Amino acid sequence: MPCMKCGSNALVEEVRVIDRADYNVPLALTVQVDRKPGALLFNSAVTNKVEARVCGDCGFLEMYVKNPGALVRAAETRNRERAAKKRAGK
Ligand SMILES: [Zn+2]
Repeated sequence: MPCMKCGSNALVEEVRVIDRADYNVPLALTVQVDRKPGALLFNSAVTNKVEARVCGDCGFLEMYVKNPGALVRAAETRNRERAAKKRAGK
């Protein structure tokens, strides 16, 4: 699939998106959905690494997650938990 911005085919695939943790340690950028957002200790977070594709001509950056289905399921669980709490009047 060509670049969405300029139509170029000069794309760099599988680009890692790096975040920096303590002591400047490089880590893969991740997204996270908490299945139990109100929980103090165990929020049952589902994380997904972010991967990118960069256009070699215009530099346009597209970002993806590896396993979007896992985030969908986590969000469904979270929404069910919230609805149940609301029904229980919490
Ligand atoms: Zn481009």
